[in-house]
Amino acid sequence: MTEKNKTELMKQIRDEVLNLKESPLYEYRKENHYFPVIGEGSHDAKIMFIGEAPGRNEAKTGRPFCGSAGKILDELLENIEIKREDVYIGNILKDRPQQNRDPLPNEIKIYGPFLDRQINIIQPKIIATLGRYSMDYIMRKFDLESELLPIGQMHGKVFGAKAEYGDIKIVVLYHPAVAVYNNKTKDTLKEDFLILNKIL
Ligand code: URA
Repeated sequence: MTEKNKTELMKQIRDEVLNLKESPLYEYRKENHYFPVIGEGSHDAKIMFIGEAPGRNEAKTGRPFCGSAGKILDELLENIEIKREDVYIGNILKDRPQQNRDPLPNEIKIYGPFLDRQINIIQPKIIATLGRYSMDYIMRKFDLESELLPIGQMHGKVFGAKAEYGDIKIVVLYHPAVAVYNNKTKDTLKEDFLILNKIL
């Protein structure tokens, strides 16, 4: 797929999400003059990071991981010498849930197919899940449901999977937000991120 085609397909996703009136989060976005957060980064990224949903900073700017969790993500990437612009960063939900509450099953159902399309456009070799919602969604999507355990037992693990476009690896990671106030978890995240360099 050419870069032009990829950009066109991504724009189509953006336009569909912008007009996603059937989403329970659409009105909330409009009322608050928020933006949907589609994702950001290279359309040819080898690694795609998938978070949960935009927070306040993200909804205000339209950019993923640009608040406190984003700062941690930047630090973790810097630590493994991977540039943010060389990866792709997205979320399951493209709109901010009220008060940053957890995503609801019907919201995951509405927004999930957009993420599925993004994966097939970018065709990453590695999908790195950030947090348990992302882990859960991606593991189920790639028929690895039977391997699912609580994230405390899954983080830092690598799973082989078959995407529509070829073989991929799934890396399960904690959500960077857990390290905002906890240096011990940040160390764990730093250690887990090293795996990305090893398997790249
Ligand atoms: N948390 C997420 O899961 N995604 C973002 O984009 C920001 C914070």
